[in-house]
Amino acid sequence: MLAEHSKSKKIFDNGFQIAKNADLASKIYGKENVINATLGIFYNDNEEMHTLDIVNNEYKNLSDKDLFNYSSSINGEELFIDAVKQYIFGKNHINILKNNFCEVIATPGGSGAIYNTFKNYINPGEVVLLPNYMWSSYKLMSKEVGGGYQTYSLFNKKGKFDLINFKNSVIELAKIQKNLVVVLNNPCHNPTGYTLSSYEIKSLMNILKEACTLCNIILINDIAYMDFNNKKNDLSVFYQNLPSNLLMMITFSMSKSFCCYGLRVGAQIAISSSKDTIDNFTDASLYTCRSVWSNISKGGMTLFSNIVLNRKKYRQLLLEQGYMKNMIKERSEIFLGEAAAVNLNILPYKSGFFITIPFSKGLEKEIELKLKNENIFAIIIPGGIRIAICSIPKHKVYNLAKKIKIAIS
Ligand code: PLP
Repeated sequence: MLAEHSKSKKIFDNGFQIAKNADLASKIYGKENVINATLGIFYNDNEEMHTLDIVNNEYKNLSDKDLFNYSSSINGEELFIDAVKQYIFGKNHINILKNNFCEVIATPGGSGAIYNTFKNYINPGEVVLLPNYMWSSYKLMSKEVGGGYQTYSLFNKKGKFDLINFKNSVIELAKIQKNLVVVLNNPCHNPTGYTLSSYEIKSLMNILKEACTLCNIILINDIAYMDFNNKKNDLSVFYQNLPSNLLMMITFSMSKSFCCYGLRVGAQIAISSSKDTIDNFTDASLYTCRSVWSNISKGGMTLFSNIVLNRKKYRQLLLEQGYMKNMIKERSEIFLGEAAAVNLNILPYKSGFFITIPFSKGLEKEIELKLKNENIFAIIIPGGIRIAICSIPKHKVYNLAKKIKIAIS
């Protein structure tokens, strides 16, 4: 009975199934003997889902009205919108963005922000340009809005961002499409943990500016993992001297940075040098919000603005985020050090929730089984094992690289 366009819908993403297998193995063999490196959720060293005290306290102190009422507008609460700008660009955001127009729309998580952008900027039959290693939901979303996807290769032989391939991929599509939506997931890319250097971002922007002579460009930078970057985030290169037909879309998520995955709070931050482009963005985006999810959790937005706009609470948030960041750094250093010692090949990792071990495409099922036999559970992506280093307690990271090396050899 499905409508024609829905008949081929089936999710092949087996992440949640692998996570279930990990739980089952823990019951059979004992938790201590199982490595569960599946989901992008931060677990502490006792292997419990971590929460932040400042977030917990603030949420529990919200009034009934804040928790249960509708949001006062579809765009999102006014204070939330201010807080998002401040969180991403700093207190000086008005000056920083002064040569551009900028609008923020609240969305259910980063997922809502990305979906909303695909929905309104991919023409029927057009493809979105995705990195070859990617968060798999991008593919589902492109299909859901009637588009397709192509990929650019993320790394060159030197393990740096492949600017040549990126340029060729962009220009090839820019020649035949009216709009080209390009996705970048930076910093702390899922699934590799790569972060582009300032030089790489500058060069990427130059390529997109050149492509603007051929078609409209919409660059999505998915910053879901921005707070796990070991270096300072500098987004300024993304919005300097923007041609009028290059729309910058930053997609923000509270899920990882605030450890509130199920709260479903995020935002689209659209930046353009053209007022018309931003006005059109606002009209279309609000329409999609109203017609799909209406508005998002008022409590989630209030929680965010209460913390971000209060100096003391914000300072505590940074401290607590710093603790998570340090734990991930420690775990990843152990893993990478041991991987080097046993010659286990790793895709270039800088920081963040995930580390990827590449292998030849076609071996996915075999590798999954070999790891399962060793009670190691990780997400198998095309040509790679994604290790969620965010979810493995430190004591279980020791020897893991060696175990994987043996299991997959
Ligand atoms: N972007 C990336 C790369 C992700 O890995 C995720 C979640 O795993 C998201 C965006 C969206 O997260 P959410 O919809 O929970 O905000």
